[in-house]
Amino acid sequence: MSAEIISGIEIRKTILAEIKEEVAEIKQKTGKVPGLVTILVGKSPASVSYVTLKVKTALECGFHEVQDNQPEDISEKELLGIIDKYNSDPAIHGILVQLPLPKQIDEKKVLMAINPDKDVDGFHPINVGRLMIGGDTVLFPPCTPAGIQEMIIRSGTETSGAEVVVVGRSNIVGKPIAMMMAQKGDGANATVTIVHTRTKDLAAHCKRADILIVAAGVANLVKPEWIKPGATVIDVGVNRVGINQETGKAILKGDVDFDAARKIAGKITPVPGGVGPMTIAMLMKNTLRSAKRALGV
Ligand code: NAP
Repeated sequence: MSAEIISGIEIRKTILAEIKEEVAEIKQKTGKVPGLVTILVGKSPASVSYVTLKVKTALECGFHEVQDNQPEDISEKELLGIIDKYNSDPAIHGILVQLPLPKQIDEKKVLMAINPDKDVDGFHPINVGRLMIGGDTVLFPPCTPAGIQEMIIRSGTETSGAEVVVVGRSNIVGKPIAMMMAQKGDGANATVTIVHTRTKDLAAHCKRADILIVAAGVANLVKPEWIKPGATVIDVGVNRVGINQETGKAILKGDVDFDAARKIAGKITPVPGGVGPMTIAMLMKNTLRSAKRALGV
């Protein structure tokens, strides 16, 4: 048996096309489009490349996009002032501050300063609380977990009553996806277990999983014999394991031994090309949701 590959690249394409269509409808009805500001402090190559991709995707979706580049030595006070300006700008529905920030700036303070109704990354404690309550209260599910759930749903995996095991308990992936899968509602209603470095028998938990979500950041942590035959495996891990001598690019591997696991799993996400491409698509989806809420459509 060879598992069906859940392609993040393909699902992303579909989602972006759906967003584009909705943006055109909103524009026709209201004369307005969703607005996203991406605030980049400094010029770290990784941050520049993430922001460039976000800007490009927002423009492709037909959004009003403001790229606000600030110097590395900007003060915390100045940055908070900039956020305040966008908080009260009616043309902006989503505010994204690219992390990490330079040392002189307290990241927590900055994230707390974003209006929770424009916090499309979903990191503000108010949005974390909304996620915990679930249902209609949720405004912005954090983007990577939202992408994971979307892949599970769109791959046709049954979640109701399913045993979901999440490897990892970080605030950006493990904890939120576990909460989302345990909520009442479509694409959820699962029985969820979270495992981590203090878990006594990691393998035994993984073997029970109908849906195994792995976000540990350890290459090939999950062995093929830990996978229940037919399970859906979502590999969130991105690990640089070497450099391709021909292209000079990093060789990326997930947390699951993909080649062996695909012979046992029913469905599986690859790395790269799995969860990774979904994150920006979900950021666009959150910005669209914010705009629709603000414009009353
Ligand atoms: P993180 O903050 O480092 O958390 C890793 C979690 O995995 C921790 O809870 C840790 O347990 C657990 N863990 C680590 N080694 C383990 C082991 N040997 N056995 C069991 N549990 C173990 O990482 P993160 O930010 O959640 O990211 C996880 C991975 O996903 C990384 O590879 C990251 O690059 C990737 N990622 C990808 C995307 C994307 O594709 N869009 C987005 C975000 C993250 P303890 O809590 O006990 O330490």
